[in-house]
Amino acid sequence: MIPTLLPTYARAPMTFVKGEGSWLTEADGRRFLDLGAGIAVNALGHAHPALVQALTDQAGALWHTSNLYRIPQQQALADKLTEHTFADTVFFTNSGTEACELAVKMARKYWYDKGHPEKTGIITFSGSFHGRSSAGIAAAGSEKMTKGFGPLLPGFVHLEFGDHDALTAAVDDTIAAILIEPVQGEGGIRPVPDQCLKGLRDLCDEHGILLIFDEVQCGVARTGRLFAHEWSGITPDIMMVAKGIGGGFPLGAVLATEEAASGMTLGTHGSTYGGNPLGCAVGCAVMDHVTDPDFLAEVNRKAALMRQKLEGLIAAHPDVFDSVRGSGLMLGIKCRATNADVVKAGYDELVLTVPAADNVIRLLPPLTITDAEIDDAMSRLDAAASAVAAA
Ligand SMILES: *Cc1c(COP(=O)(O)O)cnc(C)c1O
Repeated sequence: MIPTLLPTYARAPMTFVKGEGSWLTEADGRRFLDLGAGIAVNALGHAHPALVQALTDQAGALWHTSNLYRIPQQQALADKLTEHTFADTVFFTNSGTEACELAVKMARKYWYDKGHPEKTGIITFSGSFHGRSSAGIAAAGSEKMTKGFGPLLPGFVHLEFGDHDALTAAVDDTIAAILIEPVQGEGGIRPVPDQCLKGLRDLCDEHGILLIFDEVQCGVARTGRLFAHEWSGITPDIMMVAKGIGGGFPLGAVLATEEAASGMTLGTHGSTYGGNPLGCAVGCAVMDHVTDPDFLAEVNRKAALMRQKLEGLIAAHPDVFDSVRGSGLMLGIKCRATNADVVKAGYDELVLTVPAADNVIRLLPPLTITDAEIDDAMSRLDAAASAVAAA
């Protein structure tokens, strides 16, 4: 008999009932150190007092009115996002995959309105992840996500990650946009080198192509800058945001320049819940923290500390670990042992990590993790690695 919960997930046998900072308490009382942060979502940790305050204040005042009316929290968050980024305008969604839907629609509508209805192609890369909607799975294109779900949304051109020649060859008059994660998350924490992001920007400028960054996982201070692409010095035309921006409350956004958004006129897109007062009140509180230069400096300091300690950990377990990669507090350990075994051994040591493709385990701790918790994390990962090696 089918479970009452649709069985699309193989869930680990833990039930968390409370969270505080970097810690999750299991129903049986065990406390786990959370290096997954709900897949890079709980950017300020669990139950951050400022976020609890923002949410409960709003919950006591007003939950929902719809986009038929003005929503001041939404306006305030759009103002904060545009103040701190390349963007001139923002549309709020409830998730990353909905942001992908709009990014794709926006790029195609832009060219349609410019008198180029033939420009519908969107270039994407192997190992990418853009969500589980029909556009999201067509964009990623992997068999794992698309098999059985056809006919797929057409127009996506899938290239090998890092294949510059294939990229140049794929660019023609039918291409509307290039869609890329500045740091691939699900694909195994694979950063796109700054030089390549610059090259992409040049290529797009040269051929009149829109550049779309998916910063759903790597954005919102995760890499030590507010958005990951800032390290490269270039900006996209359109950007997808979600995960960290809500700090645990479902919230996403599409940010765009005035030019790129020019096709999205009255009535061309909408959402019942998108940008609701609860999500946007929390989003404002998140933004107030992650845009603070002192906060970002701390993320960078702790990221350097964690990376240095991980190098030591890897050197101590050459049979289990291969290398560390990533940016800021978006770190991946490429494993020699099977990544799922390492994640599972971590559960026994009460530390949570997240598997990714390419036999990687992801470390995406709350950005508020303390130095002492980083030390604690290393002892737990050390014990987990010893257990895997002994097995
Ligand atoms: C998680 C993720 C998405 C999808 O976001 P959802 O909120 O799960 O729909 C899209 N792109 C990237 C890079 C992601 O990591």
